Amino acid sequence: MSASPRNAMPAARTIPHRGIRANVFHGKPVTPVTEFPAPAVAEVVVPKVALDGISLSYRTTSGERLLALDQINLEVKPGEFLCIVGPSGCGKSTLLHLIAGLHPQTSGKVLVDGRPVSGPGTDRILIFQELGLFPWLTVSGNVEFGMKMKNVPKAEREEKVQHYLRLVQLSKFGNCYIHQLSGGMRQRVALARALATEPDVLLMDEPFAALDAQTRDLLHDELERIWAETGCTIIFVTHNVREAARLADRVALLTFRPGRVKEEFAVNLPRPRHMEHPDVTRMARNILDCLREEINKSLEVEYADEKIR
Ligand code: ADP
Ligand code: MG
Repeated sequence: MSASPRNAMPAARTIPHRGIRANVFHGKPVTPVTEFPAPAVAEVVVPKVALDGISLSYRTTSGERLLALDQINLEVKPGEFLCIVGPSGCGKSTLLHLIAGLHPQTSGKVLVDGRPVSGPGTDRILIFQELGLFPWLTVSGNVEFGMKMKNVPKAEREEKVQHYLRLVQLSKFGNCYIHQLSGGMRQRVALARALATEPDVLLMDEPFAALDAQTRDLLHDELERIWAETGCTIIFVTHNVREAARLADRVALLTFRPGRVKEEFAVNLPRPRHMEHPDVTRMARNILDCLREEINKSLEVEYADEKIR
């Protein structure tokens, strides 16, 4: 089994830097990297995102403190695809909010490229299930919006809108409004809008949870392709272990409240992957075996709460 010890990094594996993977940088070809002789010592890569002893407690409506995250240590390499799984209420969304800089942690440090995060930044973007698309804007208008906020000149905005709509295969729908699109198409608009701001880190909070199985499979293929083309780092939260095994380089499993890293699984399977592939199924089963105990704990707590009410 490929589970690594608690909170340890997986076995050393070369993760190409942003843009090098497919010789493309934001859709533009880059000069091929010159081959140098391999250095005698392993290259030290600064983690794209590092969580160093992160804890967070919320104040509940009754005035008590609820410890949501407890001593989280995680490092995400540049260009890595990390999935975070865990039972409902274990702090997955909270963790993404901390990395996005939307909420301060109670203790510990969040570092991006080795620098502490002190608030939101255009290097990180969060996509969540509700999407937050603007119904009064067209598809193009939605994709353009973030760039407008960044004062990107009009000609560049128009070029990038075309580029990112092509990337998510929505070129023909630029003039449509959101209500005219299917759920899968809306997800792709949200993805194009996020990518158009050219973030280094894409934070995705259960983005495909509400989609039907076929649409979700299609979006997995597209997300994997886009990840390969842009070379961005992805931190993807899901409660679906199969989805995690399908997409991730590595899966971090959180415990039920308070959220701690219980286990990490390196997913060394060839890409592109398919949900139905026996190796993906086997990996998903390994993860689920470890997750089941946490789900049971969460159910016990929820049922106990029900009895008190
Ligand atoms: P997950 O995304 O894994 O389902 P969350 O990160 O949303 O979990 O929440 C983790 C825990 O923190 C839950 O018990 C939730 O009720 C609690 N929580 C989340 N946000 C707040 C908040 N703003 N105030 C108080 N408690 C919160
Ligand atoms: Mg959540």
